[in-house]
Amino acid sequence: MEPKLARIVVPARHGKAVRLRANEALKIINTHGTQVVDCWAWNAYDLDEFMCMETTRVWNQRLNPLVGDSFVTNRRNPILTVIADSSPGIHDTFMAACDRRRYELLGVKAYHRNCCDNMFEGMLELGVTPRRQNLASFNIFMNIRVKPDGNGLLTLPTESKPGDAITMRAEMDCFVALSACPQDIVKIHGAHDSTPKDVELEILRENVASSPVRGPWVPSE
Ligand SMILES: [Zn+2]
Repeated sequence: MEPKLARIVVPARHGKAVRLRANEALKIINTHGTQVVDCWAWNAYDLDEFMCMETTRVWNQRLNPLVGDSFVTNRRNPILTVIADSSPGIHDTFMAACDRRRYELLGVKAYHRNCCDNMFEGMLELGVTPRRQNLASFNIFMNIRVKPDGNGLLTLPTESKPGDAITMRAEMDCFVALSACPQDIVKIHGAHDSTPKDVELEILRENVASSPVRGPWVPSE
């Protein structure tokens, strides 16, 4: 029987970060099935190297990752690889993380918690301060669809279910920050309940699947 792993709770509307060694993995569990989780990662020894959605789309030639796909950094080095996903596999690499200004533009007058501040909150708990915010997060469980015209975008509620989880293996020693997105105006969480909820994390230190990292896409001719 597998040993029971300690779970780290990311409270609704808040952030957490973890440090992973290469070949360890992080499982992100959608406890209630309704929550979107923003994710960032950095080289543990050089915060100027960070997980990058633009280079990742070039590397994989896909809008959004599938199991077996790697995320690469702004220096095009693999940093995280998706090794398991029990959710419907619907995630997003396009939408900017929410920040304070986003809520002002949505008409919120007072301070509204947001993913960008949560990223700093999570990293600060580890004693680390990224030099800048990065709006290009990996938005786990977020359901953004391209319209049939191939251009327009649809923002839809997540199709995740309670207990769905995605597991990503570290390809280098890295920090990973997560935010249980506080969005409660745009309906991105559950179709019937868009209230932000807790999610949980598990760090897998041993016996992580050692699938090969696929190289970058190159044109065949
Ligand atoms: Zn957010």
